[in-house]
Amino acid sequence: MAEKIIGIDLGTTNSVVAVIIGDEPVVIANQEGSRLTPSVVSWTKEKEVLVGEPAKRRAILDPENTVYESKRFIGRKYEEVLEEAKRVSYRVSADDKGDASFEIPNLGRKVRPEEVGAQVLKKLKEAAEAYLGEKITKAVITVPAYFNERQRQATKDAGKLAGLEVLRILNEPTAAALAYGLDKKSDVKILVYDFGGGTFDVSILEGGEGVIEVKATAGDTHLGGANVDERIMEWLIEEFKKETGVDLKKDRTALQRLKDASEQAKKELSFKLETEINLPFITIDPSTNQPLHLQKRLTRARLEEMIKDLVDRTMEIVKKALEDAKLRPQDIQEVVLVGGSTRIPLVQQRIKEFFGREPHKGVNPDEVVAVGAAIQAGVLSGQVKEILLVDVTPLSLGVETYGGVMTVLIPRNTPIPYRKCETFTTASDYQTEVEIHVLQGERPMAKDNKSLGKFYLTGIPPAPRGVPKIEVCFDIDVDGILHVTAKDLGTGKEQSIRVQASSGLTQEEIEKMLKEAQLHEEEDRKKKELVEAKNQLDQHVYNLEKILKENREKLPAELVSEAEKVLEEAKKVFAGAQDVQEVRRATEKVLETAGKVGGHLYQQTSRTSGEGGEVIEGKPM
Ligand code: AMP
Repeated sequence: MAEKIIGIDLGTTNSVVAVIIGDEPVVIANQEGSRLTPSVVSWTKEKEVLVGEPAKRRAILDPENTVYESKRFIGRKYEEVLEEAKRVSYRVSADDKGDASFEIPNLGRKVRPEEVGAQVLKKLKEAAEAYLGEKITKAVITVPAYFNERQRQATKDAGKLAGLEVLRILNEPTAAALAYGLDKKSDVKILVYDFGGGTFDVSILEGGEGVIEVKATAGDTHLGGANVDERIMEWLIEEFKKETGVDLKKDRTALQRLKDASEQAKKELSFKLETEINLPFITIDPSTNQPLHLQKRLTRARLEEMIKDLVDRTMEIVKKALEDAKLRPQDIQEVVLVGGSTRIPLVQQRIKEFFGREPHKGVNPDEVVAVGAAIQAGVLSGQVKEILLVDVTPLSLGVETYGGVMTVLIPRNTPIPYRKCETFTTASDYQTEVEIHVLQGERPMAKDNKSLGKFYLTGIPPAPRGVPKIEVCFDIDVDGILHVTAKDLGTGKEQSIRVQASSGLTQEEIEKMLKEAQLHEEEDRKKKELVEAKNQLDQHVYNLEKILKENREKLPAELVSEAEKVLEEAKKVFAGAQDVQEVRRATEKVLETAGKVGGHLYQQTSRTSGEGGEVIEGKPM
């Protein structure tokens, strides 16, 4: 029998391992008998490593040597994670490569997020080996859809450190769709609503005949169950202060206990209407030196009031994903819930109100991603029939063209792999090289977007502008890697580069870029309009100049001097004008003059106008 391949959901808060047995995915319980393993690792003074529940329990005792939510830091530079680092109690710093890492006093060294991930993976691997009674060496691991190449590679490295060959890195929403069986349905669109411990993600997927296609993704990397816990905590601290005058915020041990109790209360309120929070000996009253106890009742209604805005935010993100996919709520056949926080009744209620139907409850929200990973693993081991998976580009990709404009070749949310070619031309006469500047982003002006790379296509035979035909092709492969080639169709000469389509962009950066595009929409539109008007003016000036040069002696002197004046004026406008109307007036003037000149040259019918489409910013030699 073929070697078994396990599927692992390496989560921010919890991790899960599953495998296909017979035809069915089975979630495997860990050494403590739990199907959910906290993604927490702790190192003792004796340098012993604890993973999962035992490590989570040590978080109170020894927060300095206990790492949780390490997934937030994996494959990222220290400078990218400063905001995140503030949220955790242990120390995050840069290692010698500038990557985010954790200082662990008990080890006397820094630990990389991959090493933390590897410890969790190792525990899950061993749990699977104990359950199956065989050695496991291969796995499929899931990551958020927005993870970039570096984060994916670091996750793979974590697997390697754990003694696992990672055969595939699978996007979490795609895994959820597999677990739901989307590949077996035909023409069904689902929305995956993933509300976990620290993050919120929405994905819209379409399935049919063995194919799953991601239509859109959106999310917030700082919205999760932990925010709900914080609300309860803040309320408890405030109430306690009102009653005793003591501020628990200053007491670290008390805070950790409050955090755990808040999470516990939240979970209970998913099934009960009321709960009691009981924390004896929470602190010492500094004025009397007597121990103080905390005891509060919390109702579900009260909790819902506290977190209404958090749930509203998730629904705003749902709306955005629908807009991006150009779909209405009624176009979604099923909402698949992922993540423990979807157990909150208010969440389910809001989804039901919005979509007009109950969310799908067939798969356990904590386990659905791991089950999907196991199905993908089953495909790779030959236990499950082949499924084709398709992902999308998070942002638009294009090149810089004349006037500093970004011309999009591949719009955002295009399913990958994908190939698109477009023909461009030169901006100046006898230009022999063009610069191909590859960009990513949603802003019309090149400088406002992210530069992915540049290269030159040289050796173009000298020709009037507009004549050379340069074909630029964008090719994104299944791993999201973009290959750009430029080819002079005249000579067949070719140049290319390879760039990461997601190069170093985090979900926050993607969100930021999208927000900025929205914010500057009007001003960007105006800028683009001005550049386009100027490009047009430039083209007409060029044409008129050319006609004048070639036919000078055939034209009356006063017409030539009038035309020259108009051209001079137009060039001034081209160089300095900021007002689109002024540019248009100058263009009309040039056209009018060209008409007059043309009238005189009635025999000359073929006009020399630019062809071959848009112009790539070039460097005349
Ligand atoms: P995940 O990242 O998917 O493991 O989700 C973990 C989050 O789900 C944590 O914030 C948990 O507190 C939360 N969670 C788990 N069970 C429940 C529940 N019954 N009600 C509300 N939240 C829950």
